[in-house]
Amino acid sequence: MSVYPKLLCRCGAPKPYLLSRTCRNCRDRRLFTTRYLSGATLAHAAVSRARAAGVLPDPKLTLCTDCGGPAIEYDHRDYNEPLQVQPVCRRCNLLRGRAIPKRWARGEFAAYLQRALARNQPSQATVLLFAAKFPDAIEQAAA
Ligand SMILES: [Zn+2]
Ligand SMILES: [Zn+2]
Repeated sequence: MSVYPKLLCRCGAPKPYLLSRTCRNCRDRRLFTTRYLSGATLAHAAVSRARAAGVLPDPKLTLCTDCGGPAIEYDHRDYNEPLQVQPVCRRCNLLRGRAIPKRWARGEFAAYLQRALARNQPSQATVLLFAAKFPDAIEQAAA
């Protein structure tokens, strides 16, 4: 095993910096998958609305479900249930790992991207980039 950092991403493309984990294309795909396709952005927006409406309390006023220390944020275990959240501290949230990704109905993800684009939320440039770069991922979400 070489002790030197690899110059190439696992996809074979060059990495922007020696210490980057992946090339920019793989990074963008990962962000797209973990944030948008997983339903994370949608679920976090639902929690923000619920907090603004007073349906959910500020997590910082409660205790961590796992360790009993001060909570800092809400954790999702399943992005199909956007308001099923538990207050956790940062460390326990990291230990919990990722939530179950959202199962999109046919056309739902494309419609969500269209709405996000119309509201410029997240930034239009990011969504346009993703939509242009990963049409196969959007197809997968609809399948
Ligand atoms: Zn790559
Ligand atoms: Zn904790």
